[in-house]
Amino acid sequence: MGVFEAIASDTHEEVLYGHDPVSGLKAIIAIHSTALGPALGGTRFFPYRTEDEALRDVLRLAKGMSYKSAAAGLDLGGGKAVIIGDPAELRSERLFRSFGRLVDSLGGRYVTAEDVGTTTADMITIATETTHVTGLPEAHGGSGDPSPATARGVLAAMRAVSEHLWDTDDLSDRTVAVQGVGKVGASLVERLTKAGAKTVVADVSTDAVNAVAAAHGSVVVEPDQIFDVDCDIFAPCAMGGAINETTVGRLNCTAVVGSANNQLETESQANELAARGILYAPDFVANAGGIINIANEFTGYDWRKAAVAIDRIHGNTARVLATAKERGINPNVAAVEVAKERIAAIGSISLKRRGHGAQR
Ligand code: NAD
Repeated sequence: MGVFEAIASDTHEEVLYGHDPVSGLKAIIAIHSTALGPALGGTRFFPYRTEDEALRDVLRLAKGMSYKSAAAGLDLGGGKAVIIGDPAELRSERLFRSFGRLVDSLGGRYVTAEDVGTTTADMITIATETTHVTGLPEAHGGSGDPSPATARGVLAAMRAVSEHLWDTDDLSDRTVAVQGVGKVGASLVERLTKAGAKTVVADVSTDAVNAVAAAHGSVVVEPDQIFDVDCDIFAPCAMGGAINETTVGRLNCTAVVGSANNQLETESQANELAARGILYAPDFVANAGGIINIANEFTGYDWRKAAVAIDRIHGNTARVLATAKERGINPNVAAVEVAKERIAAIGSISLKRRGHGAQR
């Protein structure tokens, strides 16, 4: 696909390419929309096989960020950056500073953050060249690790789902099967336990599941068995594509609410879940706690303020589920519609100004 054709296909605003031959930097920054505010999205450092693959990924991810921020009610647009190459081979101060200058050249229209292949330390290096970087450690004036915020938001989404299904946001005595007990999953299990829920956990890391089971009394199952667990809520908190052709028919739950990005392998799984009577809380609505936390850095980071904003995921999820019901569509489609409607409504503000003095 040609670059202009690719940009036009999803009406992205801008795509910027940057190259520093000395450090080997090959970067693409995509701005999907700044209708609601600066385009915020992380920098993915990945050994893409082709430049075309990198372009497609950055365009897709930038659009996803627009919807995620809009559905979260944030005054932020959507953007993303990719650096082509193997971070283990290419990571250097010069590369990240060159990238920082590229980000800076956009004058704040794009704001970067951590993503797959980049670290907090890389963000500190980028920050030597630009102020348009978020997700810095607390010691550097940032909001630190977003994972507890993400877990808090997933719990808020679970309470909204519980109200929708069972007319109560009380999760005590509910059983939640959590796939992946890494940074977000472990924090979620802790919160669920405090809320009185029972948890069943699985992780490819035995250390990770053992630690969670010892701390919270979770039942441990093998990674492949987590899909079959008889539970109220299945929480994918590992990798993308957990709900796919093979797993969708096995799920033995009433709802799916988790933190993983791109939980559905394809959109058709949203319809299959609905057909099986399983309520799906769209991933980008349920897992927005991290970005809501980061967005707080724009107005001076304060955890208490961020926590109030994260808890709005409860209302955001409820709105999406109600829209899906009203319009007879699946919640994933409803979430995209809600996001697009907000982008269109705010993006189309055009003030009619009247002169002072004389009446017209
Ligand atoms: P993490 O790497 O800390 O945890 C992921 C865990 O999943 C690890 O313990 C890993 O061993 C386990 N895992 C991997 N494959 C598995 C499998 N097949 N079965 C069971 N367990 C498996 O990552 P994280 O930060 O906790 O993020 C979890 C998910 O949530 C990711 O998809 C991430 O993109 C998404 N997410 C995270 C945040 C955040 O704030 N960290 C925000 C939004 C979305």
